[in-house]
Amino acid sequence: MENDFDRPIEKEQIAIDTKIERVFSEAYYIGRASTAKGTVAAYIPELAKADASAFGLYMMHENGGSLSFGDFETRFSIQSVSKVIILAASLKYRGFRGTFDHVMMEPSGDAFNSILKLDTRSNLPFNPMINAGAIQTISLLADILSFEDLLSFSRELCCDEGITLDEAVYKSEFESGDRNRAIVYLLKSKGVLMSEPQKTLDLYFKMCSLSVSARSLASLGLIISNGGTDPLSGKRLIDSEHVRTIKSLMFTCGMYDFSGEFGVRVGVPAKSGVGGGLVCAAPGMGIGLYGPSLDPFGNSIAAVKAMEHISEKLGLHVFDY
Ligand code: GLU
Repeated sequence: MENDFDRPIEKEQIAIDTKIERVFSEAYYIGRASTAKGTVAAYIPELAKADASAFGLYMMHENGGSLSFGDFETRFSIQSVSKVIILAASLKYRGFRGTFDHVMMEPSGDAFNSILKLDTRSNLPFNPMINAGAIQTISLLADILSFEDLLSFSRELCCDEGITLDEAVYKSEFESGDRNRAIVYLLKSKGVLMSEPQKTLDLYFKMCSLSVSARSLASLGLIISNGGTDPLSGKRLIDSEHVRTIKSLMFTCGMYDFSGEFGVRVGVPAKSGVGGGLVCAAPGMGIGLYGPSLDPFGNSIAAVKAMEHISEKLGLHVFDY
């Protein structure tokens, strides 16, 4: 079988502008210096084992060049960054209407795992970037795709055949996922869930437990930034209209309750996860970051600080264009 992963992502074969290199290097030190100010997620026991001082940064440029810093190869669980992949899969297999007839596209203003508005304001979850929305979206896929299908799709988007299910995280998710269980049964009670609750939840827990690296996320970011085509292989992986939807929801809902401020300060479509991962689809580049020390919103403290610096110094804010 043809190898889908033989893209030239090892090392800097192609020179990166020295200003970009300097800014990323500064951002790495700024990020690393801030790790002590946050705390690692503890609500899933397995996440609490992460090294709070870790920080990795990987930039993949559309010209084929790349930059890497620190713990960029360290494997960690993708957590909520998988919501981007789940949405991309739903758009691919269910289409735009087939997805958004079942989940809304509004920022919720509530915590990622909140049940509040789902119970009081709407029968449908607010958006696919929060737990209720991702669980609902994955229920659209549970009867047509297996976990192996979603794993292959994740590997393809991240250009990383090393992505596997972290069994320990999955077990931890399963054992401590009562709030997500409450969400799935609330969706079922409202008659909107599109598959069986256990099956849906199992797929959701597994997708949160994929083990990725900052480099995997940089590749995902580059494909999204580039309108759905891998600029290095030329292969189309996401329909361009779907990418516009994905970017919009990342921009408005991707950074938990910090999405608005991140939009103003950094201004690039991004999605974070409580495992410490952050994917950014910046103009001309994909940026993947890993720093498990989190701020009170659940975003990687080092990754946010680094992105503020990178965006400001390189003028990456999408509304500056
Ligand atoms: N597996 C986590 C949960 O569902 C994902 C949390 C996150 O990264 O936001 O609670």
